[in-house]
Amino acid sequence: MSQLKKYFHRFGYLSETTSNFTDTFDKQLETAVKLYQKRLGLHVTGKLDSDTISTIVAPRCGVSDNSSPHGLHVTRHYAYFNGKPRWVRASPVTLTYAFSPYNMIDRLSVTEIRTVFNSAFNRWSSVIPVSFKETQYETADIKIGFYRGDHGDGEPFDGVLGVLGHAFSPENGRFHLDAAEMWSVDFERDTSKVAVDLESVATHEIGHVLGLGHSSIKEAVMYPSLSPRKKKVDLRIDDVEGVQALYGSNPNFTFGSLLQSENSFNHAIGSETAFSKSLLSLVIGLLILFLCD
Ligand SMILES: [Zn+2]
Ligand SMILES: [Zn+2]
Repeated sequence: MSQLKKYFHRFGYLSETTSNFTDTFDKQLETAVKLYQKRLGLHVTGKLDSDTISTIVAPRCGVSDNSSPHGLHVTRHYAYFNGKPRWVRASPVTLTYAFSPYNMIDRLSVTEIRTVFNSAFNRWSSVIPVSFKETQYETADIKIGFYRGDHGDGEPFDGVLGVLGHAFSPENGRFHLDAAEMWSVDFERDTSKVAVDLESVATHEIGHVLGLGHSSIKEAVMYPSLSPRKKKVDLRIDDVEGVQALYGSNPNFTFGSLLQSENSFNHAIGSETAFSKSLLSLVIGLLILFLCD
C-alpha cells in the first residue's frame, strides 16, 4: 500500500503534506484513487478494482498527471500544463530540434531514430501552423536524448518498462527517453515482449513539448500509458483540438479525414462486437440442438 501511495504521489494524486505513506487504505488514498480513475477515463469507484490495477501497472509517461484540465467542467478531455504555456514565436513558427550526441542508444541506428522522429514531428505540424527542423544540438529549441536512471533533472528513470520517457513544458524543450527500454521501430524484427514503439512515445512526448498535458481519453496519443508492443501514433480529434487551441489550425488541415478514420475505427469495433454476439448465439443454438438430440 505504501508503494501505491508513492506512485500516486509521484504522478500528482497525493500531496506532499499527506505523504506519510502508511500501509493502510485511508481516506486520502481513496480520494487519490477516485481522482486517478477520473483522469484516466476509468469507472470512478474509489476502489482498487482490476481495471484500475492494470492501468497502474501499465508502462507510462513520467510527466505528472497534475495538469489543469481544459475548461470548467472536468470532463474526459485533453489538458494543459499549469498556466497553459506555449512557444511564443513570430509566424511562421519553426522550432528546431536535435539529438544529444552523447546520449543515444545502440539498439537502433541514428537513421532509424531520425526517420521515426521526422514522422512524429510531421504528425503534429500537419495540424498546427508550426514546423520542425533538425539542427545543431547546442542551439536547438528541443533537445532529445536517451538517459539512464538518475540523470540530473530530479526525475530518475527506472529501467525496463515503468516510466518510458518525459518531456518538459514550453519553452524548456528538454525531451528525455529511458535508455533502458527495448526501443523498437519494427515489431516483426524485435520479438521481445517488452519492446516499446519509439514512434508512439516520440509522438506523445512532442505533445508535451508543445504544451499539452495528459488526456483522459484512452485512444488519444496524449493518454499517459502505453502497453508494450503497441503502436499508437495517429493523432485523435482530442489531441488535435487540444493543440489547435494553443497554436491555431494548419491552413491545410481539415477534420474531415480524421472524422472519417475515427468513424471507421468505431464502426470496426462495433461490427466486431456484433460478430462475437452472433457467434455466441450460434454457439448457444448449437448447444440447444445438441441437448435436444
Ligand atoms: Zn506524457
Ligand atoms: Zn529527464
